[in-house]
Amino acid sequence: MTPNPEVIRCEVDAQGIALLTIDYPGKTMNVIDQAFIDSLNRCIDRVAGDAAIRGAIVTSGKDAFVAGADLMAMEANLDNTADDALPVLFEKYGSLSRVYRRLETCGKPVVAAINGTAMGGGFELALACHHRVLADVPSAVVGLPEVQVGLLPGAGGTQRLPRLIGVQAAMPWLMEGKHASPAQALKAGMVHALAAPADLLATARQWLLDAPKSVQPWDEKGFKIPGGTALDPRVAPAFVVGNTMVLANTCQNLPAPLAIQSCLYEGSLLPIDKALRVETKYLMTAARGPVSRGMIRTLFVNKTKAEKGLHRPAGFEPFRCRRLGMIGAGMMGGGIALTAAQRGIDVVLLDRDQAAADKGKAYAEKALAKQVERGRMAADRRDAILARITPATDYELLRDADMVVEAVFEDRAVKAEVTKRLDAVLPETCVLASNTSALPISLLAKASARPARFIGLHFFSPADKMPLVEVIRGRDTSDATLAQALDFVAQLKKTPIVVNDARGFFTSRFIGAFIDDAIGMVAEGVNPALVDNCARFAGMPVGPLAITDELSIELSVHAGQAQQKEFPDQYKPGRSVPVLEALYAQGRLGKKVGKGFYDHDLAGEGWGKRLWPGLAALYPPQASQPSPHDLKQRILYVQALEAAKAMQEGVLLAPADGDIGAILGVGFPAYTGGPFCFIDGIGLPAFVAEADRLADRFGEHLRPCALLREMAARGQTFYGRTARPMAATAA
Ligand code: NAD
Repeated sequence: MTPNPEVIRCEVDAQGIALLTIDYPGKTMNVIDQAFIDSLNRCIDRVAGDAAIRGAIVTSGKDAFVAGADLMAMEANLDNTADDALPVLFEKYGSLSRVYRRLETCGKPVVAAINGTAMGGGFELALACHHRVLADVPSAVVGLPEVQVGLLPGAGGTQRLPRLIGVQAAMPWLMEGKHASPAQALKAGMVHALAAPADLLATARQWLLDAPKSVQPWDEKGFKIPGGTALDPRVAPAFVVGNTMVLANTCQNLPAPLAIQSCLYEGSLLPIDKALRVETKYLMTAARGPVSRGMIRTLFVNKTKAEKGLHRPAGFEPFRCRRLGMIGAGMMGGGIALTAAQRGIDVVLLDRDQAAADKGKAYAEKALAKQVERGRMAADRRDAILARITPATDYELLRDADMVVEAVFEDRAVKAEVTKRLDAVLPETCVLASNTSALPISLLAKASARPARFIGLHFFSPADKMPLVEVIRGRDTSDATLAQALDFVAQLKKTPIVVNDARGFFTSRFIGAFIDDAIGMVAEGVNPALVDNCARFAGMPVGPLAITDELSIELSVHAGQAQQKEFPDQYKPGRSVPVLEALYAQGRLGKKVGKGFYDHDLAGEGWGKRLWPGLAALYPPQASQPSPHDLKQRILYVQALEAAKAMQEGVLLAPADGDIGAILGVGFPAYTGGPFCFIDGIGLPAFVAEADRLADRFGEHLRPCALLREMAARGQTFYGRTARPMAATAA
C-alpha cells in the first residue's frame, strides 16, 4: 500500500519547538480528509512522545491556513456510507473531533499561527490549540460556515467556542456561519492576539518560550462556561428566542440550525468529552440527511465545477474581454455595465439617446456612492470604475469591442434592428450576446449575418448583485463562441449554467410554472393569503402573488399578448391569464401603482402591503380550503415537474445546471439542493406517486412526465444517471 502523502511537515528546532506546517501536496488549499487526520495523528505522537520537544506551532505552508473539510471528497463518498452500521458511522464522523481532542490533551502546549483564512474544520483546529495568533491582514478571516451547507461544526466548534466566549456570544457565529475579520475575531475572543504576517511565527514562538499552559481552560478543575450554562437564567432566554427565530426563518425546513442549538444546550451541561460525542451524534444525523447532501452537491461541489469551466469546450485560447459594448442602458444594462467596469473592463454603454445612456451610468454612480458612504470603497476606486463606463449613442465606438451584450426592449423587431447595426461595425471575432428573458436565441440569431457568434447570456436582476448567468446555446452557436462567453462570465466572477435553446430557456419557464400555478390557485378559490404563506413555508423567499406585483401585472399581461401575436401556433394561455387580465382591467397594474394582488403603501405610512379585499369578490375563497401541507407540496412539485420536463426536452443537459439555476437564479429553496436533488432525495417512485396524487387532487398539470415514470421504473436517480453530452443539442 502506498503511504498517505505527508500533509503536515514536522520540523523541530534547537529550542525544542516543533513547527507543524500544513502543506497539502498537490493542492492549492489545505483541506481536511483522512490523509490530513493521519498526518496530524503522527505529528501528535511525535510531539507528545519526544521529551526534547517543549511545544508546537501549527501553521500553514499555503496562503490560507485551512479551508475546511474536503467537501468534494465528502460529496463523492456520500453514497458509500449508506449501508454502514451506526457505530461504524459514529466512529467515522467523530474521527476529526478525536484527533483534535488528542492534540489539546497531548501534554505539550500548542499554538496556532493562523497565517490566512481558517474556515470550518480549519478554525476548529485552531480552537483545539491552547493559544491562537492570527495574521492581521484582511484576507485572514476565521469562521464556522458549516450551517450554510446544511451541516454543523463537528470537530469541537459547537463546544469549544461557547466554552471560550460564552454560549450566547457563540450562537450567531455558529448559527449564521459568518466570517470574522481579524479585528472582529480578537474583539470576540476567538483568537488571543493579532500579529503582522512577518511577526506571526515569532509571536507564536515567544508564547511557547514564556512557559505557557498546556491545558485548555475546560480541562481545568472548577471550569465554568463564561456567562453560564444553558440552564443559567442569563442564558436560558437566548434558547427560547433563538429557537423561535430559527423556526420563523427556516419554517422547519433546515435541520442544522436547530441541531446547533441542541449541541449548545446539551453540550453546555456536560463535561467536554461527553459534549464532543453529543456533537458527533448531531453531525452524523445532519450529514446523512438529504438537506446537507443537496446543499453540498449544488451550492459547493457543482457550483465550483461550473465556475471552473466544466462546460467550456476545450481547445480554444483563453479569452479576456477588454472592451465591452453594452447596448441598452436600462435596468439590466446599467447593472451589467457596472459589474464589467468593476472587473476592469472598459464599457461603451449605448442607448437610443444620450439622456438614456447617461441614466444607465447614473445607476453605477448611485450604487458606488452608497459603497463609499458606507466606508466599503475608497473614493479613488469608485472614480476609476466610473471612468471605465462611457455612455454613448454612436455605434462607431464599438469597432474595437471584444464582446457585446444586448439588453434593449424585449421585442424581436427592436432586437433585430440593433443586431443589424452591430453587424455593420463589430470585428469578425466579437461575440454578440442577448440578455433576452425568454425569446429563443436561434430566432434572434436569424437577424445576424454571423449566427455562429450569437449566444444568450441571461443575467438576473439586479445584475450587479445576482450571481447567476444562464448561458443559452442557440442552434448555430459555435463552440468557440460558447468558450468565449464562458470566459467572459468567469471574468465577471459570476456562476454560469449552460442550457439549450427554447422559449423561456430553463429559469424563465421554471419560475413561470410556479407563478402560473399559484395564480391559478386563486382562480380555484384558494385563499390568497394561504397561497403566499404556504410558498414561504415551502422556503420560497417571496410569495408568488407578491412577486407578481413586484414584477408588474401590466408587464405580464403585455408579455402574454406579445407572445400570442408572435407565436400564434405555440401560444397556450396559462392558468394565470384570466386572473391577471381581470386585475389589469381594474387598473391593478402592480406595485408601481400601489395596486395589484396587494394594496401597497407607496406613501410610506408604515403599513407595507395588505391583500386587496376586492380579490375575494372576484374569486371567492372555497368554503373548504386545501391543507397547508398539500399546498406546500404542490408549490415544490410543480417546479420540480417543470425541471424534469426541461430535462426530458433536452433544454437541460445535466441536473446540476437545473439545480444551480433554480437556487441562484429564481429562489427555489436552497435546503432542497435544487429540483433534481429534491426529486432524488424523495426517490423517483415516491416522487411520481405523490405527483400523481397531487394531479388527481388539483389538475393534470401536476402529472409527471414520461422521463420521470421511466426513471422510476428503472430505479434511476438524476445524479446516478449519466448526463447527456453537450453535443446533443436540442431546439
Ligand atoms: P429597460 O426597459 O429597463 O431597458 C431597456 C433599455 O433599452 C432602455 O434604456 C431603452 O432606451 C433601450 N433601448 C430600446 N431600444 C433601443 C435601441 N434600439 N437601441 C439602443 N437602446 C435601446 O429593460 P430591462 O429590464 O433592462 O430589460 C432589457 C432586456 O433584458 C430585455 O430583453 C429583458 O427581457 C431582459 N431581462 C430583464 C430582466 C429584468 O428583471 N428586468 C431580467 C433578465 C433579462
